[in-house]
Amino acid sequence: MITVGTLSDLRKARANLPSPVGFVPTMGYLHQGHLSLVERARGECAGVVVSIFVNPTQFGPGEDLASYPRDIPRDLELLDKAGADLVWVPEPSELYPPDFQTWVAVEQVTKRLEGAFRPSHFRGVATIVTKLFNAVQPDKAYFGQKDAQQAIVVRQMVRDLNFPIEVIVCPTIREPDGLAMSSRNVYLDAGERQVAPGLYRALLTAREAFESGTRDATSIRDIVARILESEPMVNVQYISCADPVTLDELQGSIERGLLSLAVRVGKTRLIDNILLGE
Ligand code: AMP
Repeated sequence: MITVGTLSDLRKARANLPSPVGFVPTMGYLHQGHLSLVERARGECAGVVVSIFVNPTQFGPGEDLASYPRDIPRDLELLDKAGADLVWVPEPSELYPPDFQTWVAVEQVTKRLEGAFRPSHFRGVATIVTKLFNAVQPDKAYFGQKDAQQAIVVRQMVRDLNFPIEVIVCPTIREPDGLAMSSRNVYLDAGERQVAPGLYRALLTAREAFESGTRDATSIRDIVARILESEPMVNVQYISCADPVTLDELQGSIERGLLSLAVRVGKTRLIDNILLGE
């Protein structure tokens, strides 16, 4: 495994990789969720590139950019074991020089859900993913269903900007108690950590109701809301049952949908989702 920092070293090392090249962009502090993407890429591609970059432009004011967990030596060890060929750890100053002024804005699918609570988040995501794609020039790029809206935004952007890249979305990896793995789970104290699996249980209860015949979108959202209301430490930001492609909020009887939520547990913001009818 080769590790590089500068763009010019990345380009040189990339040029020597066999095709097809698979790419996994991450913010580091890796867990099995990230590694499942690397393992999938390893199985499907001759060359596997991973980036580790805590992208400052996708964090809003007051968010956790400064405290975001980092452990590059441990990440590199895990990536070596998972079979990555090339790891790129860029410097913020090279990707965002002081006169940086060009942004990628995906307009519709970024307005709702995460975009409504984190107004500049997806502009930062679309811009960094474009920059990483331009540098790495992968054939396939791997993203997690955990960040469902992010995957939808990236798919839309790849279509709209004609990137010759196949976007592959991989299942959410969970802890044994159901909590979706996330680098941010380290922020949870012991009490919060006990409550956090309740999010997935609420989503599962709603999916069970859907599968046994509850098809009304509002009733499905209400099932999740009622369960989470009974958790004193959980502060709901949104509960959505939306079209899995457009993210339009659904009303009336549905056959499929993306059931997603964002909450605060104490000071930590958690998101999770589940697909209905797929
Ligand atoms: P991040 O480092 O949080 O930016 O995540 C990098 C990639 O890993 C994104 O495509 C995420 O959706 C994906 N990812 C994060 N957590 C999980 C998980 N628990 N299961 C599957 N993929 C994940």
